Amino acid sequence: MPIPVNALPVFDGHNDLLLRLWMQEQGDAVADFLHGTMNGHLDMARIRKGGFAGGLFAVFVPPAQYMKQSKTTYREEDHDPLAITEAQIALLHQIADRSEGQARICRTAGEIKSCIEQGVLAMVLHIEGAEALDEECSQLDGWIAAGLRSMGPLWNLQNRFGTGVTGGFPGSPDSGDGLTPAGINLLRLCNQKKLLIDLSHMNEKSFWQVAEVSDAPLVATHSNVHAICPQPRNLTDQQLAAIAQSDGFVGVNFGNAFLRADGKRDEDTPLEQIVRHLDALIEKLGEDRVGFGSDFDGISVPGELGDVAGLPKLTAAMAQAGYSSELIEKLCWRNWLRVLEKTWGE
Ligand code: ZN
Repeated sequence: MPIPVNALPVFDGHNDLLLRLWMQEQGDAVADFLHGTMNGHLDMARIRKGGFAGGLFAVFVPPAQYMKQSKTTYREEDHDPLAITEAQIALLHQIADRSEGQARICRTAGEIKSCIEQGVLAMVLHIEGAEALDEECSQLDGWIAAGLRSMGPLWNLQNRFGTGVTGGFPGSPDSGDGLTPAGINLLRLCNQKKLLIDLSHMNEKSFWQVAEVSDAPLVATHSNVHAICPQPRNLTDQQLAAIAQSDGFVGVNFGNAFLRADGKRDEDTPLEQIVRHLDALIEKLGEDRVGFGSDFDGISVPGELGDVAGLPKLTAAMAQAGYSSELIEKLCWRNWLRVLEKTWGE
């Protein structure tokens, strides 16, 4: 008997839950998450409903300007990227520790697989923008000990490791300088320590530097197809060809601005628009190198999807488009596991 499509587990390449928890000023954010009373896209009750099996949980240090607007207790003189990073890592541990076995921090593909089999939320620690890392990367081993398995050295701005992809819509990913010598050194360290290197916020130059330096499959955890939606963050045909050649992976971003041909944040975006990006990625990369990178809690998603509980509607749209149940299962989690195993080792 085939597994019903709406019961399929989904492993996902990117969410900003930790930032949301850290930004929350009132009450106990971890308890709100665990007891299903969170705003935003993710909490435990809706995670269960949607079949969300786990994913990469990003630590992100927001720019001072954003924090001034969003956190009333924020004081610019206290801005400390290292403290913010460590506070968000601690929140991930709190979720695991207080979940009564419902959530676990995973370091290997095997651990993720057994979580999926047992219905335990599989959480992988990812860093988006290494603002807190010093030039010698002296914090890296401590973070790895705390569970870190994936690193995006850059976000949209500049840091000591390079310049991320910036610019408005429509635009090309070619936004200035690439990685600095410290950035190249960080790539080599990530290879040595078998950390996944995330290409999703790399500009044109830094993307090709990673392609040249890294010995791991090229992975963009939450990016889409530039030919469909010319967002600077989306991947050009040449970039997709390099990802295919490296036996890499792309996780489709559910953000309206990354999906729509007009680049608008309009929630009135049909789920078929996600399927269009899946189709194009499958054409360029093959059926084994594509999956999801929702960006839940970081962006505005199609109204029809709503939040994580809407995932079965997406798998239904995939079935409607003629995807076999085997392909749907690959896109939902098997392909993610495959590339993680290849990157991290057994
Ligand atoms: Zn991102």
